[in-house]
Amino acid sequence: MRIADALNAARALGVERLDAQWLLEHLLGRPRSWLLAHDDSELSAAQAASVQAGLARRAAGEPLAYVLGEREFRGLALRVTPAVLVPRPETELLVDWALEHLPPDAALDVVDLGTGSGAIALALQHERPLARLLASDTSAEALAVACGNARQLGLPVEFVQGDWWAPLQGRRFALAVSNPPYVVGDDPHLADLAHEPRCALTPEGDGLAALRRIVQGAPAHLLPGAWLLLEHGHDQADAVQQLLRDAGFEVAQTRHDLAGLARCTGARRSNEK
Ligand code: GLN
Repeated sequence: MRIADALNAARALGVERLDAQWLLEHLLGRPRSWLLAHDDSELSAAQAASVQAGLARRAAGEPLAYVLGEREFRGLALRVTPAVLVPRPETELLVDWALEHLPPDAALDVVDLGTGSGAIALALQHERPLARLLASDTSAEALAVACGNARQLGLPVEFVQGDWWAPLQGRRFALAVSNPPYVVGDDPHLADLAHEPRCALTPEGDGLAALRRIVQGAPAHLLPGAWLLLEHGHDQADAVQQLLRDAGFEVAQTRHDLAGLARCTGARRSNEK
């Protein structure tokens, strides 16, 4: 099998050319430019078998990130497995917003609830070395992936296991962020995401259960004036703003992603108390 044959096999399977090129890049350890210039180069038997297996998985709808075992998020190479959601580019909006509340010269306590692969916490720790990042997840398997990523990247994030605020009794933060499961339980879109952990995508029902628990538990864990920033579904901004107001937060704001969709809502805990 030559590189050109592998690309033809991808086309026959309905795998996008760019995905096939990424797979080849990854397996051969060569950049795309090399692949393009050497498309008559022969793969070893082992490489050909790996390419075929990878293409078959991709053709069956598995995210490329799982096939490669890796996904980049804000310049960090993260290991990802089916125990964690594949980090999405739109979640960078939440990271950008969080960074606005983290002066580079301050050692603030920050929490990322439901960290999954650790993407958000690790990006924040990477970009704000002085911040003290804590990340939680209810899934031991997800935490193992996140811890592995922190070790690999040499980032000193602290991890704890548990549901939302449950493992954080008595701890208070200057900033809290979360990309919780928020897809509505009967959203047909979930069928396209069947390879990802369902509990990371949807809390079932109206999609708001996790957001509700995070907002309701937040005041007890935020310092006066601290911000809570949440990713949510494109049609959940009003509901999340209402939850925040009901919990006594000030100035709820919503931000939109590059596609113009309402993506994140955040608010500030009042200065009283
Ligand atoms: N943005 C994801 C999707 O709809 C969902 C992520 C989440 O539930 N936190 O593909």
